[in-house]
Amino acid sequence: MEGILYKTPAPAAWGTGHATGTRRPKRVSQAEWITRTVPELAIIGRHLFDRVRDLKAKRATPARKTRASRTTKLLAGFLECGACGGGFGEVNHKGWLQCSWRRDRGDRVCQSTLRVPTAAVEACVLNAIREQILTPENVEYAAERALAEIAKARAASDPAAIRKELDAFMVERNVLIDAHIKGLTDPRESEPRLKAQLERRHELERRLAAAEAEVTPWDPVALRPVIAAALREIHTALEGDDTARRDALRALFGPDPLRVYPDARRGSGRKGR
Ligand SMILES: [Zn+2]
Repeated sequence: MEGILYKTPAPAAWGTGHATGTRRPKRVSQAEWITRTVPELAIIGRHLFDRVRDLKAKRATPARKTRASRTTKLLAGFLECGACGGGFGEVNHKGWLQCSWRRDRGDRVCQSTLRVPTAAVEACVLNAIREQILTPENVEYAAERALAEIAKARAASDPAAIRKELDAFMVERNVLIDAHIKGLTDPRESEPRLKAQLERRHELERRLAAAEAEVTPWDPVALRPVIAAALREIHTALEGDDTARRDALRALFGPDPLRVYPDARRGSGRKGR
């Protein structure tokens, strides 16, 4: 799929709406369709499309562990040097974690000589998640705060106004698509505009969905079993195989790596918190 295939009747098949004076497409036989590939109207970008295709291809072949694509190191890629922000991993000595920037770029870039046993850091992180971070009390508190934030944002938004804006925008976009498809515009100008419009459309649709979303009221009695079940699932994943454990950590940490600090600031902490 290069993009969406826009099927449109030949221009002669466009009629004029009697009541409104607007053009309306008539049903035409498939033989009369003009089909053109228009990558600039693709609903997903080329990069994302390639990634999804690669993922699908990988899943279609039997899973095989390769050194390049799979790591069995639990924390690989999740840690960052607290002193310089570089990667923190096993660089020189197997079984020990240290700042990779210090090794690769020298002590002018990073002065941290911190070196810690991999097994100890893994145990420390897993223990902290189990005992201090993912406790029912913490998750309940976070859920309550999140629901309050959503409710606040929702109260401040006006779905009718957003819908009106989206409708007006779609009229404008359809006019441009129509002109672009018929070759009435300079594609060097209309293609980037269509791409930018697609982003704007997604943004408006996201805002509208958020404004119209039902906000679950905070009900600890109802939510407690749900939270307990979710926690059981995560804790089970953290005791599972390498893939399950790393997937669980990725879901927990998101894009922020854990910062590992030298002794004065013992232990590790979330970046920027
Ligand atoms: Zn460093």
